[in-house]
Amino acid sequence: MKRKVLLVEDNPQNRYLITFLLQKSGYEVVIAEDGEEAVEAVPQHRPDVILMDVQLPKIDGYEATRRIKSDERFSAIPVLALTAHSMKGDRTKALEAGCDDYITKPVDIDVLLRRIEEVLGPQPGSAS
Ligand code: MN
Repeated sequence: MKRKVLLVEDNPQNRYLITFLLQKSGYEVVIAEDGEEAVEAVPQHRPDVILMDVQLPKIDGYEATRRIKSDERFSAIPVLALTAHSMKGDRTKALEAGCDDYITKPVDIDVLLRRIEEVLGPQPGSAS
């Protein structure tokens, strides 16, 4: 069974690119476009891992992460924050909100796949 990534990203271009690359790497991808959708998508889709942009409409990625992590049914799902390269404060805030790790934007797909495998273990059936 394919492993499921919840991608939370409000930028359509980033969404398209990251979705394409993850699907190509064998992941199933579900999308949320803002923080509220992200919180609602978790019980609905039960993702294996969450990629959380921090700057989002409605509620931001920090608050969405806090809400997801405060529910004991979902607190074990790893959350990887997507933070702006220049914003060091974002990373601290992401970790304080309960994110397990962060990836700086623009996203390097090799780094992204490595981080996902670090939190999930290698993809079953993958050669590497
Ligand atoms: Mn954003």
